[in-house]
Amino acid sequence: MRKNIVAGNWKMNKNVIEAQKLMFQLLDYKKNHETNCEVWIAPPSMYLMMAKDVFAHNEIGVFAQDMSEHENGAYTGEISADMLESIHATGAIIGHSERRQYHGETDSHCRVKVKLALDKGLTPIYCNGETLEQRKSGKHLEVVKNQTEVALFNLTAEEIKKVVIAYEPVWAIGTGETASPEQAQEIHAHIRSLIAEKYGKEVADEISILYGGSVKPDNAKEIFSQPDIDGGLIGGAALKVEDFAKIIEGFN
Ligand code: PGA
Repeated sequence: MRKNIVAGNWKMNKNVIEAQKLMFQLLDYKKNHETNCEVWIAPPSMYLMMAKDVFAHNEIGVFAQDMSEHENGAYTGEISADMLESIHATGAIIGHSERRQYHGETDSHCRVKVKLALDKGLTPIYCNGETLEQRKSGKHLEVVKNQTEVALFNLTAEEIKKVVIAYEPVWAIGTGETASPEQAQEIHAHIRSLIAEKYGKEVADEISILYGGSVKPDNAKEIFSQPDIDGGLIGGAALKVEDFAKIIEGFN
C-alpha cells in the first residue's frame, strides 16, 4: 500500500545555527518515537549536505525545495538533479506555487524536472493546486486536471508510481486558511481517478497524494483521516519541532 508522509518545507527560513538546531531536535524526536508515517524535510539548499550528515541513517528524508530543468552548465544559481543524487538527497519539491508565482514556473517546466529527477533515482514531490479566483469560478477540478496531465502524463506507469503529488490550493498557503477536509478530499479523489483512468486503479492506489496549505497541529488529524489524503506538505508549522511532531502524530 501507499506510504503516509509528513514533509516539512522550510522555505527561506533559518540561519545555519537555527537550521542545525532544528535538525538535531528532529533527529532526537525520530529516535525516541515510533511514527506511522515517513518524515521528510526540505531545508534551504545550502543546508542539504548538513542535513545528510545529521540524518546519516536516513532517519528523515532530505529534499531540495526546487531543482533545475537543465542537466548542467551555465545556469547561475541553479541546482541539478545530478548534484542532488551525488549527495544522496531523497528528492526534490517540484512546481511549488511560490516557484510558479515568483519564478514563472509552469507545468511544462515541471514535466521536464519530474522526469530528470526520476532518471536520477530522486523522488519528485510534484505540487499543484488552483488559485482563489479559479476556485471561485468553479474551475478547480479542471485546473488540477490540466496541471496533472501536463506535468505527469508523459511518464510510464512504473515512473508515475514513484512520484509523490502534493495538492496545495494557492489560497490556503501561508494564509491560515485551510481547505476543509471535504474540499481537499474531493480534489485528492479527483487526481487519483485521473491517474486511474490513464494508468489503471492499481497504479493510482500506489501513489501518495499529500495535502498542503496551512496544515497545523490542530487540523492535521482530521485532514489525514480522509481516504485519499496520504499526508501533508507543511510550511509554517514545520519550523518548530513541537508543531511538526504534533502533525506527525496526526497519524497515530
Ligand atoms: P503553509 O505552507 O503550511 O505555511 O501554508 C505549505 C506549503 O507551501 O507547502
